[in-house]
Amino acid sequence: MKKPGNHKKPAHTDSRGEQAPSCPFSHPDPTTEPILESGTAFAIFDKYPVSDGHVLVIPQRHCSSYFGLTADEQSACWQLLNDVAAIIRERFNPDGFNIGINIGRAAGQTVDHVHLHLIPRYEGDVEEPEGGVRGVIPWKRTYF
Ligand SMILES: [Zn+2]
Repeated sequence: MKKPGNHKKPAHTDSRGEQAPSCPFSHPDPTTEPILESGTAFAIFDKYPVSDGHVLVIPQRHCSSYFGLTADEQSACWQLLNDVAAIIRERFNPDGFNIGINIGRAAGQTVDHVHLHLIPRYEGDVEEPEGGVRGVIPWKRTYF
């Protein structure tokens, strides 16, 4: 399913049209082969996976906030996420997924280029998974 060919991308500018020379997602390591790629977005394995098969879906255009993407870019990201999830299901056979986007420093965003996390989950990978992404505020994860 991997798309062959070069990982060539258009010149990267942020939403104000500025260059983003030090952005790791605008200038990924040339040895990092995307799992999938479209003209608008690409998917790679997270360098620091929280589980086997942890993928990042990243718009080609440099933009710091998910809310700064155009509707077409947002849509392209979700489409690519659906497509890459099928690959991850096949390859890793997870029991579930979490999907997450960190928007802003306060929310834990560390790379200023939008990325969607697709995190496969496996039975028993944590003791009590109840609440899932609610765990971004650890003591509020459960409902009781
Ligand atoms: Zn960037």
